[in-house]
Amino acid sequence: MTDRPYYIDDELVDRRAHRLIIDIAPASSEEAGRPLYIGSCLCGQMDPTPPWDDYAVWERFDAHMSDVQDVVHRAAEQAAYISSYYDVPAQLGARVVADGKPGTIVGFDDARLLVLLDGHTEPAPHHPTWHMEYVKDDQ
Ligand SMILES: [Zn+2]
Repeated sequence: MTDRPYYIDDELVDRRAHRLIIDIAPASSEEAGRPLYIGSCLCGQMDPTPPWDDYAVWERFDAHMSDVQDVVHRAAEQAAYISSYYDVPAQLGARVVADGKPGTIVGFDDARLLVLLDGHTEPAPHHPTWHMEYVKDDQ
């Protein structure tokens, strides 16, 4: 069906950012006569589930992680394209200085970098080479 690994083995997925948070829903469990749970993801991008059986919550989380994989794999393809076309080290999460202001690459929009400047809440598109410095990873 797909040639990518399960998300647990997917090196592109930041697994520290995604964790199922599962809580029992006391009132609904009482009403249903069995334990029901509400699940959400640590990343905040998965809408909390209704009170469901635990397997259904896990299935929803798996679907969320599949969406996350779609996004990171698409971003990796775009990063590879931009990196080779402009000969720059564009990567998701890379630190840059965009037009004199420090920030982080959080995505790609066609051949533009989506840069979240430090202290900002919304990313903005930037050209990969115009007034763009790539900060070397200091780790
Ligand atoms: Zn998540």
